[in-house]
Amino acid sequence: MRVLVLGSGGREHALARALHRDPAVTGLHCAPGNPGTAAIAENHRLDPADPVAVVELAGRLRAELVVIGPEAPLMEGVGDALRRAGIPCFGPDREAARIEGSKAFAKEIMAAANVPTAAARVCESAAEAAAALDAFGPPYVVKDDGLAAGKGVVVTTDRAAAEEHAAACGRVVIEEFLDGPEVSLFALSDGLSAIPLLPAQDFKRAHDGGEGPNTGGMGAYTPLPWAPPGLVDEVMETVVRPAVAELRSRETPYVGVLYAGLALTAKGVRVVEFNARFGDPETQVVLDRLASPPAAMLQACAIGGLDPAFRPAWHEGAAVTVVVAAENYPAAPVKGDVITGLDEAERVPGAYVLHAGTKQDDEGRLVAAGGRVLNVVGSGPDLPAARAAAYEAVGKIGLRGAHHRTDIALEAAQAGPA
Ligand code: AMP
Repeated sequence: MRVLVLGSGGREHALARALHRDPAVTGLHCAPGNPGTAAIAENHRLDPADPVAVVELAGRLRAELVVIGPEAPLMEGVGDALRRAGIPCFGPDREAARIEGSKAFAKEIMAAANVPTAAARVCESAAEAAAALDAFGPPYVVKDDGLAAGKGVVVTTDRAAAEEHAAACGRVVIEEFLDGPEVSLFALSDGLSAIPLLPAQDFKRAHDGGEGPNTGGMGAYTPLPWAPPGLVDEVMETVVRPAVAELRSRETPYVGVLYAGLALTAKGVRVVEFNARFGDPETQVVLDRLASPPAAMLQACAIGGLDPAFRPAWHEGAAVTVVVAAENYPAAPVKGDVITGLDEAERVPGAYVLHAGTKQDDEGRLVAAGGRVLNVVGSGPDLPAARAAAYEAVGKIGLRGAHHRTDIALEAAQAGPA
């Protein structure tokens, strides 16, 4: 199978790595990819959110599967364009991707499908926002209705800050605060059926202990020893299948990965958000554990005929990924500094390094080119072993001013197996 992966981050390097190991994959291409994917696939320079350019490339490569990594191509209709051209695409059409792109649309789908989520109001004016803030009380949750890469959400007890964010965004969703640990669950769908992958947890704040600003994600781990048994089945029954059925009934079938961001509250499981693509960095740990070959699974979603009874096989044990971020990420990451120590990091047993924001400079040196620079993955028989491998490898990496969290999976590892 000839496969094209769109995107250039750690998630796409993880996808490429998993596809590279699949014997069914005879040709692996990335656009634009990164220096990490260059070692295992052919990189093509192109804007992955340009539908015309993507269809042209996929046609020229005679791709039998295009896997869309990031959200931007989905929102630009790359999925629609590929399907119109008859090219199998893993990733929803623009309309279905609004489940991520518009918080109000996501709430509408959830209400129609009876999916448990935070009570919410869509507000268009300062007066409406003030009334909603009064109704729900603190802590206040104010979400920009548009796509903001997870950064349009303010959760605060500061009433003035909540009102300010609402005013700055215009149209916002204001909702009930959900109190409880968060879980990310990915489900694969062909528009009709859906099957679950492993649940994972990510760490959104920049600094240890959940301090500092929100980021795209500073680390992740799986499994979740503290998650209640039956959680995945419950989420498939009450969240994923109803949402997939609702989108299908609207004649916008959902093809790709539906990412359910969940809070386990005292009142039960609630959806915090949906995303229309694989989560980054949760994908890095989920794919580390995947034992089944991914290409046929993803292609079955793209062309239809996903077997609802199919369950991927998983490696025993645990995986932890730690994001190495550039100086001053997320505010204004410093780019261009040289990265060292990758070979040493890769020699740590159980560890490997995924590229997230790197490039080769004019002199052929590997340099930081983004906020999240590297994802160091450690795996092992349990979370303490996976953590140890990941952090030992992180210690080998040199990048001036870089920072990472030291508490990824720490609590879960200390708590031990369920
Ligand atoms: P979202 O972009 O909707 O995922 O929001 C980003 C982050 O804000 C989530 O991962 C949560 O940590 C937090 N958040 C969003 N909505 C709520 C809520 N209703 N209650 C508590 N925290 C929330």
